[in-house]
Amino acid sequence: MSDVQNTLASSASLTGTSLHTGEKTTITLHPAPVGHGWKFKRGDLPDEPVIDAHCSHVKTVERATCLCEGAVKVQTVEHVLSALYGMGVDNALIEMDGNEPPIGDGSAQPFVELIVKAGVVAQDAPRAYYAVTEPIHLETRNGSLLTIVPDDKFRISCTNVGPNGRFPQFYSTEITPCIYQKEIAAARTFVYYEDVKPLLEKGLIKGGSLENAVVVRGDSVMSKEPVRYNEEFARHKILDLVGDLALFGRRLKGHVIAVRPGHGPNTELAKLLTKRHDQVMAMVPPSSTPKGGDVLDIHNVMKLLPHRYPFLMVDRIVGFEGENKCTGVKAVTINEPYFQGHFPGHPVMPGVLQIEAMAQVASIAFLHQQGEDANARIGYFMSVDAVKFRKPVLPGDTLFIDVEVTKAKRNIAKAKGRCSVNGEVVSEANMMFGFLAE
Ligand SMILES: [Zn+2]
Repeated sequence: MSDVQNTLASSASLTGTSLHTGEKTTITLHPAPVGHGWKFKRGDLPDEPVIDAHCSHVKTVERATCLCEGAVKVQTVEHVLSALYGMGVDNALIEMDGNEPPIGDGSAQPFVELIVKAGVVAQDAPRAYYAVTEPIHLETRNGSLLTIVPDDKFRISCTNVGPNGRFPQFYSTEITPCIYQKEIAAARTFVYYEDVKPLLEKGLIKGGSLENAVVVRGDSVMSKEPVRYNEEFARHKILDLVGDLALFGRRLKGHVIAVRPGHGPNTELAKLLTKRHDQVMAMVPPSSTPKGGDVLDIHNVMKLLPHRYPFLMVDRIVGFEGENKCTGVKAVTINEPYFQGHFPGHPVMPGVLQIEAMAQVASIAFLHQQGEDANARIGYFMSVDAVKFRKPVLPGDTLFIDVEVTKAKRNIAKAKGRCSVNGEVVSEANMMFGFLAE
């Protein structure tokens, strides 16, 4: 998958019947600028209001995902969002002349065809990913389980089982535009006859027919055309998951393991991801985005420091302040090797490693200050004093390591260091280093 944002090359429209109202609706996908994300526009309402495709706007999740902000409502948004996410389109304005997209054949195929017709173009900005760093788990009372574990790709493994254990199915896949188009997009909506019968009677699904859903009655399957895949139900659940997780608003790196997912738990998971993301962002100062020569990413950190796994205690330098001050960040996860023994069942980051983190950031501050010929030198610890450990550092914490070089000669330096988590100091120390040619 490309690592830059994509939008559509042109606008493209599709007209059809919508599921709940039974009315004819036209949906038009338009190109949108970098950072725009996905938004819905109600072209039929006065002032043509726009609503963000974000989980904070989720209103109802019965049978379909509906978004609402003020008086603006759009319903059954999951299939079109799924197609946009799945096909790698990051920015698009979705214009509709009603409150619901056409249902088509109950799959995301019509939207995929629309995207292909419009064309997909790369934009001049990197994509924002949210990489899951520790497991996230959600469980509902009626038996839905959703877990996300770290993975360097976006994958979904889904188990679906109908009422009374009918049609148990499993499907697992990575989501890329190519796989999505071939293996997921065409999987149709399926419903259980006993669930839709009362809705049909109440007139709640006016546009529903065997042309846009597979109906399961007892142990048999009724639909206009034969089953498209052996695991069509599990694949459609994955299609819905992609669309509902799109409401998180960022692309995911993680493996979603879902048992009996549904719009309720799916959108809850999107909300949980938003909460986690906001917590992390609250800890990272705005300067954390690598820019100019101010900030060092892990590659630059490794050019300056000889330390390597498992002893590299800095992930990134987020800022230099003047000549002497430097701030580094270390994400502390349960995957750190030292948690295996420190202590089993009660993981706490060793204080000495926090001092090591301060020393490594101090070395970077010193080498940065020395400029040009710094690369060829290594800092050695000579002494450390005034050490205080104030709070335990736990898996999931982001360690901010602030260092100030207080004295610097050619071969010797002194520095004050401080580690904090969520704005609270967890440890501090005064350090002295000697620098030797490598
Ligand atoms: Zn669906």
